[in-house]
Amino acid sequence: MKYLLAAIALFLAVGCAHRTPYVYHRQTNELLHSVLWMQRSAEYYAACETVYLGALDALDRALADTGWTAASEQKLPYGTKPPAIIVDCDETVLDNSAYEARLILDQKSYPHGWDDWCCEEKAPAIPGAVEYLKEAHNKGVAIFYVTNRDVKLDECTWRNLRAMGFPQTATAEQVLTKDEREGWGSDKSTRREYIAKTHRIVQIAGDNLDDFIGYKKTTEERERLAKDYMAWWGQRWLMLPNPAYGSWERALINYDNGLGDSLMLRKKYESLVPLR
Ligand SMILES: [Mg+2]
Repeated sequence: MKYLLAAIALFLAVGCAHRTPYVYHRQTNELLHSVLWMQRSAEYYAACETVYLGALDALDRALADTGWTAASEQKLPYGTKPPAIIVDCDETVLDNSAYEARLILDQKSYPHGWDDWCCEEKAPAIPGAVEYLKEAHNKGVAIFYVTNRDVKLDECTWRNLRAMGFPQTATAEQVLTKDEREGWGSDKSTRREYIAKTHRIVQIAGDNLDDFIGYKKTTEERERLAKDYMAWWGQRWLMLPNPAYGSWERALINYDNGLGDSLMLRKKYESLVPLR
């Protein structure tokens, strides 16, 4: 009798295991492919260069046309204001892929070690970024480095930018970090508003839709916004590729930081589109 029960239990266990869907055997890190692409592919290098070279083409037109603005926050009249460019820092002008690589190797996740990495001040420049901003600087354009790095990382970020040869980094004044002033939260629109008061914003570069417009939008709303502003891409708005992280990923899990790893992964699998 004992053996019979054991046999039935074994039969049920094997049967259930067979029917359990979504058993993922490969224990690879979610970041593996994206970080390898950013660090080791000619394609990533070429994509970044393409964005910044194209931006320079558009910049002359932007400067000549006083009706041109790249900020939805810009209020009339702005035609006589001095021109400015806004660039995000991480994965727009600074390359943190070495930090991401450490996360994979150490089996950790952000923000583990992030502040320490920032204050090593060794993030290299994204391909084409220094050349683009130097050229803009030579044309008399003000450059604002608008980053969601915490205000305590302001000095480290500034020194990193300066060490990599970025223009207008004699002081930390052009680096606008999160919470550096009252009202400067993660939503960058208040910082764009602040700059738009004194400058005509002619181009914005980023790796996240939030660097240009919107904040904490759903996946569908983000796609809609990107389409609504189609004429601005590559001209006024310069999007750098970042397959590793961003609000696109946060949107998939409804910006819910409290989800456990398993539920987060499940939501991602459920977000895949096997058939359009
Ligand atoms: Mg960024």
